Amino acid sequence: MDVVDTYNIMELLDHFLACVMFRVMYNKRNQECEGCKVDSPSQIRHQCVMMTEDMLFDEYFDTARLILKASLDTVWEGLFALAKQLKVVVQGHWRKYYEDMVDMMDECESRKLLNRALPGLLKGNEQSVYDTAEATSLKLLSS
Ligand SMILES: [Zn+2]
Repeated sequence: MDVVDTYNIMELLDHFLACVMFRVMYNKRNQECEGCKVDSPSQIRHQCVMMTEDMLFDEYFDTARLILKASLDTVWEGLFALAKQLKVVVQGHWRKYYEDMVDMMDECESRKLLNRALPGLLKGNEQSVYDTAEATSLKLLSS
């Protein structure tokens, strides 16, 4: 594996982590919305629709990070599942890097990573990343 590949996969790891964090925040918000709880057809009962992305980060970023930290294995498994789908190799020793990322990532960094387009690697695979991040976030929230 050459340097470019390794760099891309590290980027994938960062991006996936940010996606999982975002899905955890998003799903947590829905779990706490009174309208979502009872699946109300009336928009008025949904506080969730009033929440902008800024508010979502303000309200749930710290919680999401704690949830990820408490279940690092689940996120790591998700990453491996994604890597398998994308046919890329994730090295076991990168786990330390990933743990540090979860520790250090702040709101701003997380948003940057989320919005960063990954050259080459993600081309046409955005749905796989989304699906795996969503499945991982639901697993995190149910444990
Ligand atoms: Zn709602």
